[in-house]
Formats: sequence, structure tokens, C-alpha cells
Amino acid sequence: MTKTNQPITLSAKEAAQLREGFKYCPRCRTEMVDREAFGRVRRVCPACNFIQFIDPKVGASVLAERDGQVLLVKRKMDPARGSWCLPGGFMEMSETPQESAARECREETGLEVEITRLIDVYYYQDYRGSGVSIIYKGHVVGGALQPGDDVTAARFFGPDELPENIVFKSNLQALAGWRTGEI
Ligand SMILES: [Zn+2]
Repeated sequence: MTKTNQPITLSAKEAAQLREGFKYCPRCRTEMVDREAFGRVRRVCPACNFIQFIDPKVGASVLAERDGQVLLVKRKMDPARGSWCLPGGFMEMSETPQESAARECREETGLEVEITRLIDVYYYQDYRGSGVSIIYKGHVVGGALQPGDDVTAARFFGPDELPENIVFKSNLQALAGWRTGEI
């Protein structure tokens, strides 16, 4: 019997593999080949000419304030398990990046945020491939602080008590700007 409601947790390596080229064509199931198409070598189906375009993933995070403090979460998953970062995650289809950032914050911390402005758009490249990270500023407008399933802790930090193990260049840049009052 197949358990369909069992959560599936991919390792970071497995998640990265999903960003690699298809072995078989998703349209006609023919084995794909590497071939130049639109200016670079891509996975192409020799039977139906389906071309796989591998796009960067887009993530959205929020630097959420409450009473002069910033909300951080401690990561339960790789990359950088055990480090702190801004609440955030990958965008889902049919939601705006602002909605993604607010949803991820709700899921990871139990808190509702109002997004107030864009801080910056960052590009990164790691073992998962290329990605774009959008960081917003916001403030907490409701909810109750409760760490979600995909983090091990969620708490507020004042500008002079930020933890040492904060991860992601984008998060560090945004928090540095926040500490000096530029953001
Ligand atoms: Zn095909």
C-alpha cells in the first residue's frame, strides 16, 4: 500500500539533481541529447524537438521588524543547517514574490507580516544551481511566534545581538544595511 500523505524530504543533493537535465523527454519519453539550441548546449529531444530550459529558482525573504528588532529563523535543512537566516523560501506558482515572502514567514514563524518595500534583488550560485533572491522589508502585524516545521527556532534579535552564524551573502548584506539604519 502506498502512503500518499507521508511527507517526502529530499536531501540537498537530490534537490540539486532536480535542477539538472532530463534523461527522458517529458513529452514523448524519448531519450534526450545534449545539443546546441538558442545559443548554448541544452537538453533536446531528438524525436519531438522539445528543449529543456533550466531556469534559475527564485526565492523571496523578508527582513521583518518588531519593536526595533529583526526576526530570524534557525535552519533545519541544508544548505547551512543550524545557521540563522531571514524567513523566506522559494516562490510557488501563482503568487507574487511579496506573497511568497509573507507566506514563508507565516509558515516558518507563525507571524503575519506586512511587506513595506523592496530591499534588493540578489543573484547567487551554489551547488543547487543559479538562483535569484528577493529580499523585502516588512513589519510584524499579527500572529503568534511559533517556529514552523522547517526551522528549529524563530526569534527576534536587536541590532547589537545578532547571532554570529548568519548565512547567505544576501542576508548578511541586508542585515548590515539594517544595522546601520540605511535599510
Ligand atoms: Zn520528445
